[in-house]
Amino acid sequence: MRSVIFIAPPAAGKGTQSKLLKEEYGYIHISTGDLLREEINNNTEIGIKAKDIMNAGGLVDDETIISLVKVKLENLNGKPFILDGFPRTLNQAKELDKMFNELNIDDYKVVYLTVPVELALQRALGRITCTKCGTSYNIYSEKLKPMVDGICDKCQTALVKRTDDNEESFKNRFETFTVSSKPIVEFYEEKNKLVYIDSIESDKCHETMKETLND
Ligand code: AMP
Repeated sequence: MRSVIFIAPPAAGKGTQSKLLKEEYGYIHISTGDLLREEINNNTEIGIKAKDIMNAGGLVDDETIISLVKVKLENLNGKPFILDGFPRTLNQAKELDKMFNELNIDDYKVVYLTVPVELALQRALGRITCTKCGTSYNIYSEKLKPMVDGICDKCQTALVKRTDDNEESFKNRFETFTVSSKPIVEFYEEKNKLVYIDSIESDKCHETMKETLND
């Protein structure tokens, strides 16, 4: 299977799609948002610096993010990987390209997940996630609600809401994405790496994704 880079607005479903690909094909999932949340939980220097920026829906500086990703890419041992949430700026995309050249990585697709903004907002506002196994639920969806309020169906751990999943932060994140994704899209279009996949229905999206990554 090819590796994949996700470009997607907030709550478009990149976490969900990553989880499905990981379970089915053993992808290494590199989520820069998760890496930063881990730094926050561990109260590291990076975490302390990133916390307020993330809560407000802004972007953490390129240098910090690139150093986190670099370590992960250097330890892949040839396995296919998912980059979830990186690159988010043109500079990050260019730096990623340099890392790929150094590591001889070229077998990948850049998947742009498309989703209407109202649906993404609803997903963000209703999203609750298991801190132990990472399963995501949505309190506004009959299909995606946990069986018991606030408890993970799979491992019975308490579910938490992300501190940046509020309306104000979502709007900032969406606006930031709209502006900063444009040059990244052009960058990967020129390289002939970009594909668009509709992410309204998670199952359909996953099927299309598999075809894209296998062809
Ligand atoms: P995510 O989990 O991908 O929605 O990311 C959550 C937040 O982490 C974002 O809103 C940013 O504040 C920060 N973040 C994650 N990835 C990056 C990145 N590549 N560049 C800058 N900030 C990032």
